[in-house]
Amino acid sequence: MAWDFETDPEFQAKLDWMDTFVRDKVEPLIHLGFHPYDVKNPKRNALVRPLQDEVKAKGLWACHLGPELGGKGYGQVKLGLMNEILGRSAFAPTVFGCQAPDTGNAEIIAHYGTEEQKARYLKPLLNNEIVSAFSMTEPQGGSDPLLFTCSAVEDGDDWVINGEKWFSTNAKWSEFLIVMAVTDPDGHPYQRMSMFIVPTDAPGVEIVRNVAVYGQPEGSEGYVRYTDVRVPKDHLLGERGGAFVISQTRLGGGRVHHAMRTVGACKRALDLMCRRAVSRKTRDGVIADKQAVQMQIADSYIELEQFRLFALKTAWMIDKHQDYKLVRKDIAGIKALMPRVYKDIAGRALHIHGSLGVSPEMPFAAQVIGAFVMGIADGPTEVHKVTVARQHLRAYRDVEDPIFPDYSIPNLKAAALEKYGDAADIVRELAESVGAD
Ligand SMILES: Cc1cc2nc3c(=O)[nH]c(=O)nc-3n(C[C@H](O)[C@H](O)[C@H](O)COP(=O)(O)OP(=O)(O)OC[C@H]3O[C@@H](n4cnc5c(N)ncnc54)[C@H](O)[C@@H]3O)c2cc1C
Repeated sequence: MAWDFETDPEFQAKLDWMDTFVRDKVEPLIHLGFHPYDVKNPKRNALVRPLQDEVKAKGLWACHLGPELGGKGYGQVKLGLMNEILGRSAFAPTVFGCQAPDTGNAEIIAHYGTEEQKARYLKPLLNNEIVSAFSMTEPQGGSDPLLFTCSAVEDGDDWVINGEKWFSTNAKWSEFLIVMAVTDPDGHPYQRMSMFIVPTDAPGVEIVRNVAVYGQPEGSEGYVRYTDVRVPKDHLLGERGGAFVISQTRLGGGRVHHAMRTVGACKRALDLMCRRAVSRKTRDGVIADKQAVQMQIADSYIELEQFRLFALKTAWMIDKHQDYKLVRKDIAGIKALMPRVYKDIAGRALHIHGSLGVSPEMPFAAQVIGAFVMGIADGPTEVHKVTVARQHLRAYRDVEDPIFPDYSIPNLKAAALEKYGDAADIVRELAESVGAD
């Protein structure tokens, strides 16, 4: 009977160490005025590198990776439990070597890259010596890749890329961008595009501006223009026309990791909400004594536990099947649930903090925007709900003749009587067997 909600003591000890380490040493970094991805900033490196060394010494570096790439190959359930802790701080994923979008980019180079690409880009990326960006979304089309127009055409020994991309996170700090471009406009919808590794300093790569997510002090969402950017043919990543398949590999894991970090962010909001509730006084006690406040705390706890268990069950299914495709319904499900739970819990935490809650002196307004980001980035909620519904309906469509009235109560009753005979006989026999009247 393998149905166990406990963490084994050995791994729990690691989680306990992480919890204290993140609280004491990592969370304060956010207040020092530098960015986790700014790998060329000496101040950032002076503080972040020793913490990364501590994590490496504990054997907790880049745990999303298999041993062949220097990780532990822990699997998604353990990663889930770790990410709940890392989700509390914007710096924590970087300190533990598992920061998006580098994780996903490393995953696809490891999977589809040539030996040369791995040596040049993957190794330093895994060591956090460099940062990367994923350049897929375009200003005129995000959710629907069939609208993408950024193109790559062959010219001699090169590919020549032209077009615009939008929200290429961290482009300004990146050493290279993984660019999705149309190579076969008349091909099958899933085979029109290919992926390229483009060095950010290649002539023709221009960062038009860095868009900020509302409330963030500096923008890091690159609006990137590619004008006659030449890359040698060996900068094609994977097969020509393979971009769609590659990006699905990348996004499958990424969505689960986002969900797990969001569990951590929600826990932080609930923690602060409770601290405020027990400390904010009214004339006859504290606000935690008010039932209306208790309802908000109860709803937050219940919703968080539901979301957390769904995320962990999805992680467990990925570990079991070792194939994202077989877990598509649940990955899409947690992706769709995540923004709602996050927004509701962060919103309640904001409300219970009153005026302080709406100010930038607390994290809640940023968390509420963060919840909306979770509902848009990696595809909008609507698209993921369609995936859930389609996958779930499959089993019903496969049933022969599932049409009413076959499942109406009168028909089910007739079928039951046919199967078991007249229930009155059975009742009489039972009564006789116990000697009743
Ligand atoms: C903070 C942040 C970071 C990001 N990082 C990256 C990155 O690193 N690299 C990258 O390439 N992209 C990135 N993105 C872009 C992200 O992938 C896109 O925003 C997303 O795919 C949605 O595209 P869009 O913004 O063009 O919205 P649109 O496609 O214009 O969609 C807008 C709205 O229209 C509705 N809608 C759209 N399509 C459908 C549909 N089929 N059914 C029902 N409703 C629909 C939804 O309500 C949706 O929210 C990031 C986005 C954010 C916010």
